Amino acid sequence: AAPVAFIGGVSRAAKAGILMKGSAALEALARIRTAVFDKTGTLTLGGAELVEIDVAPGQEPDELLRLLASLELASHHVLADSIVRMARHRKLTLSQPRHVREHRGEGLEGLVDGTAVAVGSRPLVLGDGPLPKWADNGEKRHRGAQVLRVFLALDGRLAGIFTFGDAIREDAADTLGALRSAGVARIVMLTGDDAAAAEKISASLKLDAAFADATPADKVGTVEAEKATAPTMMVGDGINDAPALAAATVGVALGARGGTASSEAADVVVLTDSLKPVAEALRIARRTRGIAL
Ligand code: ADP
Ligand code: MG
Repeated sequence: AAPVAFIGGVSRAAKAGILMKGSAALEALARIRTAVFDKTGTLTLGGAELVEIDVAPGQEPDELLRLLASLELASHHVLADSIVRMARHRKLTLSQPRHVREHRGEGLEGLVDGTAVAVGSRPLVLGDGPLPKWADNGEKRHRGAQVLRVFLALDGRLAGIFTFGDAIREDAADTLGALRSAGVARIVMLTGDDAAAAEKISASLKLDAAFADATPADKVGTVEAEKATAPTMMVGDGINDAPALAAATVGVALGARGGTASSEAADVVVLTDSLKPVAEALRIARRTRGIAL
C-alpha cells in the first residue's frame, strides 16, 4: 500500500471530524463487512428528555431526581450527563455520592446524604422480583415504547422509576443505508436494554439482528462471534462499550468525550455527536484503498 494515499485519507477524514488512529485503522475499515452498533446513545439519543417519574407512595419526584442525579455525578454513562443537566435545570442541589460502585451497562449504587441509593436497569435493581402495585400503570403505558427506564431503590426498596425518551437518531436510517451501499452486508445491534425496546428499533431500522439484555461481557462475545465470520466494526459510546470496541476489527467511538475509556479503546473516533461520519469514514477508507492498491 502506498503510504501517501493513506495519509491523504487520514487527513480527509480529519476534515470530516473523524479521528483515525493511523493508517492501519483506515486499511482495516476498508475491509469491514459487518457493522455492530450499540443502542443507547449510539443508534438512539440516549435519554435526552425526561418523560415521567413514577413514585412509591410517600416519595417526592424532585427528591428522587435529586438523589438519582447526585449518584450519576459518579457515572460516565451517556444518560448520566443528561440526568445531571436536568436536575441542575430544576435548581436541585446535588450531593457528592460516596462509596460508589458502578456496574457498567447496568447502573450504580452508593451513599447519598447517608442513604443507600441504587439506580439502573430493572434486573440490577429488582432482580427477578415483581413490580409493586404502584408501578403497574407506568409499566403498561411504557411497554414497547421508545424509552429508557431507570429504576431507583432507597435502602433496598424500590422508590421510583424514571422514564426517559430514547428516540432513534435522525441520521440513523441514512447512515445505515450508506453503510449498506458501501458494502456492509450485515448490521447488528447490541443493547443492555430489554427485548421489547430492542425489537422496536430493530424493525424500524431493518437490522439483520438485535441482541437484548447484553452485559459488557456479552457485547464482547457477540463482537468476537461476528468477527469470526467477517471483518467487523463496532460502533459505541459510553465507557461500558470499551471492551467491545477493543475486540472488534475496528472500534469506532461516537461523540468522543475526551479521555474516556471508549475513545482510548477505539481505532476511530467520531468527534461530533452524530452518526453520519461513521458512513463517511467507511467511504473514505474504501476510496483511499482504491487509490493505494
Ligand atoms: P446500551 O447497551 O443500549 O447502550 P446501556 O447498557 O447503556 O444500554 O443501558 C441499559 C440499561 O441499563 C438502561 O436502560 C438503564 O436502565 C441501565 N443503566 C445503565 N447505566 C446506567 C446509569 N449510569 N444510570 C442509570 N441507569 C443505567
Ligand atoms: Mg450505550
